[in-house]
Amino acid sequence: MNITEDPSTSTLAARESEVRSYSRSWPTTFDRAQGSTLYNVDGKPYLDFFAGAGALNYGHNNPVLKEALLDYISSDRIIHSLDMFTEARTDFLNTFGEMILAPRNLDYRVVFPGPGGANAVEAALKLARKVTGRESVINFTNAFHGMTLGALSVTGNSLKRGGAGVPLVHATPMPFDDYFGRDYPDFFYFERLLTDTGSGLNKPAAVIVETVQGEGGINAARAEWLRGLSELCRKHDILLILDDVQMGCGRTGGFFSFEEAGIEPDMVCLSKSISGSGLPMALTLVRPQLDIWEPGEHNGTFRGIAPAFVTATEAIRTFWADDALERSTLAKGARIESRFNALSAAHPGAGLVAKGRGLARGLQFADGETAGRVAAGCFERGLLVETSGPEDEVLKLLPALTITNDELDRGLDIIESATDAALAA
Ligand SMILES: *Cc1c(COP(=O)(O)O)cnc(C)c1O
Repeated sequence: MNITEDPSTSTLAARESEVRSYSRSWPTTFDRAQGSTLYNVDGKPYLDFFAGAGALNYGHNNPVLKEALLDYISSDRIIHSLDMFTEARTDFLNTFGEMILAPRNLDYRVVFPGPGGANAVEAALKLARKVTGRESVINFTNAFHGMTLGALSVTGNSLKRGGAGVPLVHATPMPFDDYFGRDYPDFFYFERLLTDTGSGLNKPAAVIVETVQGEGGINAARAEWLRGLSELCRKHDILLILDDVQMGCGRTGGFFSFEEAGIEPDMVCLSKSISGSGLPMALTLVRPQLDIWEPGEHNGTFRGIAPAFVTATEAIRTFWADDALERSTLAKGARIESRFNALSAAHPGAGLVAKGRGLARGLQFADGETAGRVAAGCFERGLLVETSGPEDEVLKLLPALTITNDELDRGLDIIESATDAALAA
């Protein structure tokens, strides 16, 4: 087998379903990775501004997490345990409670809903309906919450919704922050529909929201908008579900992306970087009063992937004992923002807009075709960066939080030259 051939056009890709996606943007076979660098089978390095869609906030094969994992596995400890007690599970729950929840004055029960983000969302929706006895849920324009039917029903993207094959019901989209610019007061439409008995809006069980819409194009809600939403939910006795699957675990600075707004959601969904190592793990956090499930009423095989608990615990101990990571994330985010503002100023009329918070950053182009050309140009220059947004018009940066300033600058240089080339074409 000639390993240097382009796998996307070779027999290498013939066995796998057409549904594969990232391998189309990055047609090479990856082999090893360390920190913010991946190497393909020929040893060619690629700088990573994608970090597994935010599943690798602490980089690839972080040495501290890797050591904890190797220690655990090499001594025949439990790998799979359904939800039986294991030391790994108990250590994680204690560490998460003591080092993440307690210092933030948060009190949540932890549900292990299954291995992925969509599992965390499904569990939250299900419990919200059980608690309130209501069916309908409010979601927001350009939201993304996962690919299972319940999660898809609260997701905006029409291509993804179209794949469901059945009606996606019991969800009503409302305008996200800034959807109409600042032409209307916040929640102008939502609040009116809630209070008008003739509006036709069934009283919702819950509102589900992201603080920064990652898949939706790096749309960052303002802190005051989030506070307004939280107050509106409280006033109308609606549960607030915060989907922190992508923006949690330090992506925007603090461990939870909603800390900055000072709100306390009724439920929080976490996944992607919660294991720290890229191993599958998800959590649904629920206010204790809402934990009305019968034993086993929600269940699943993979809710006890102990190696994921081990790296999750080690990640919390290593990165969340002080605020050093938070401060460096904010500083690195500001570095990207100022480079993007400069790039935008260097191309007046090209419609470039810098977006985002912390190390969730976007550079919006006039259309998806241009953004796609920039992303492809980045790949040719050895940088992995994806696009998002309804037309894929936003170049989306999710580097590891542990990326060095040198690596960050090197990647930003590549984006600059790929942008110059794409706009000159
Ligand atoms: C990725 C993501 C999900 C879905 O997670 P999966 O592990 O892919 O099921 C849900 N919500 C948000 C905000 C996400 O970014």
